Amino acid sequence: ETESSYFFISPDVPVAILKPRPKYAHKGTFGHALLISGSYGKMGATVLSARACLRSGVGLLTVHCPAVGYTILQTAVPEAMTLTDTENNFISQLPDLSTYTAIGIGPGLGKNPATRQMVKQLLATARVPLVIDADALNIMAEDESLKNALLPDSILTPHPKEFERLAGSAENDYHRLELLKEFCQKHTCYVVLKGAHTCIGTPAGTCYFNSTGNPGMATGGTGDVLTGIITALVAQQYSALDACILGVYLHGLAGDLAKIENGEQALLASDIIQYLGKSFL
Ligand code: AMP
Ligand code: MG
Repeated sequence: ETESSYFFISPDVPVAILKPRPKYAHKGTFGHALLISGSYGKMGATVLSARACLRSGVGLLTVHCPAVGYTILQTAVPEAMTLTDTENNFISQLPDLSTYTAIGIGPGLGKNPATRQMVKQLLATARVPLVIDADALNIMAEDESLKNALLPDSILTPHPKEFERLAGSAENDYHRLELLKEFCQKHTCYVVLKGAHTCIGTPAGTCYFNSTGNPGMATGGTGDVLTGIITALVAQQYSALDACILGVYLHGLAGDLAKIENGEQALLASDIIQYLGKSFL
């Protein structure tokens, strides 16, 4: 049994991780992310995730979405390139994956049978680390072989319900942490267990607790924003652990800055994206 330990992410930790942008950098320096996201009625999740990804320093972003999302994405996020599925309302197929430095999947995906097949195929064929969220996690949870097919350095970003679908139900918060450590060790992946004090579990059985964020962030779309941020950081070659630590810290900090302006009740996921710039400073 591995010795486990707990760390608190204090403000000096992300400062040490964040890399400056070199003067002679070009967009190729900062990676090319692919976001696989969206279904009819949930394109907002894709827009939030894509905007957050672009606000987190990625060089290029391509979004693969159902055909219904084409005009929405091109209008709401002109900085992103858009690939459309042959299906109008959900995603049924994978694009060529060879050009991307990170792949984020899950926000707004839905669970159509064809979408399930696509997620299975992605897990079997991807050669770059994946950031897996939302319905992509729910699809994984229904098939043990998919959890075992995870590449090392994969990042999963469940909220507690999604986590319990993956790892079994917890009797209390302490038990959930034990399940988190076991899951990360067994599947050699990183799990960002989201909540008031988001906890990052690592394959070594270590846990890192976030120190930023507020209850105003308990509102639709904030998780989709986090997926975009972490995908951008992985695309820029931050290690999986650094991407998780930096991602949850900056996401919470941007939420705290948004709260100064908007308060908790009125806080929107979009406000977190708006304050990402200041949180990186
Ligand atoms: P999701 O449930 O996928 O939309 O993700 C919700 C996001 O909001 C996660 O990043 C959580 O850490 C964050 N969040 C939710 N509730 C709170 C809270 N009470 N305090 C701080 N952050 C929160
Ligand atoms: Mg979510």
